[in-house]
Amino acid sequence: MKAVIAPAACASGRVFLVGAGPGDPELLTLRAVRVLGQADVIVYDHLVSASVLDFARPGAERIYAGKRRNEHTLRQEQINALLVKLARQGRQVVRLKGGDPFIFGRGGEELQALAAHGVAFEVVPGVTAASGVSSYAGIPLTHRDHAQSCIFVTGHLKDGTADLDWPSLVRLKQTVVIYMGLGGLAEICHEMMLHGAAPDLPIAVVQEGSLASQKVVTGTLSNVPERVAQAGLKSPCLTIIGEVVKLHDELAWFGLSATATVP
Ligand code: SAH
Repeated sequence: MKAVIAPAACASGRVFLVGAGPGDPELLTLRAVRVLGQADVIVYDHLVSASVLDFARPGAERIYAGKRRNEHTLRQEQINALLVKLARQGRQVVRLKGGDPFIFGRGGEELQALAAHGVAFEVVPGVTAASGVSSYAGIPLTHRDHAQSCIFVTGHLKDGTADLDWPSLVRLKQTVVIYMGLGGLAEICHEMMLHGAAPDLPIAVVQEGSLASQKVVTGTLSNVPERVAQAGLKSPCLTIIGEVVKLHDELAWFGLSATATVP
């Protein structure tokens, strides 16, 4: 097999910004598995599942960088500084992030810090939540009968309000995928309806997609906040809005007879 980390790169430190996917370790890329297996140190976020970390080389140092909502273990600047420091020690560093590092992952900011300090880096993309979670929930994001486009937004609330471009979210034949949208779910549904979306527009909220603990709650803009509260869903949850959600009943497969790993 081809050498994964070229000898020249090993002479000095390097940071591999790696996407860990949504949870099921089977969704890691081959590149991610290889790089994880060779790294000296792994700096990981809370969304990275334990079974993904099992691919780390035994003996590799593991540093938890945290980042739950409102509870940042290390501030972003501290993480940036840590990555620079570890690479300058000549170590092979994996910066492991949930999903894909370039989609709501602040991976770009970390690379900018590395670039500013002349630290070599590589990016290993991952399966982003929109793709992985919708697949495991049996909800195609586009479908010729239901949606010709798909938009990804963050529902993270700033000062208690979701500052989103509502008119662009209520277009017909479009699927809206909302990351970090659980806290603001009621407000998001309310604003969508205020901006012209039908109260019976289908919506799904998926907790811990691709893991054995996956839960899918479906409903409409008008009733889903109550259903989600009743089901007691907790973070991480991905919200999918649009006609495609109707396909869940027909296409749900995960957790029924299949398992997360190939037998
Ligand atoms: N870079 C990541 C996203 C980080 S933002 C990616 O590409 O997927 C964190 C948000 O991602 C969570 O609040 C949630 O909305 C979503 N998310 C990530 N993993 C998820 C999972 N397994 N199930 C449901 N939502 C998930």
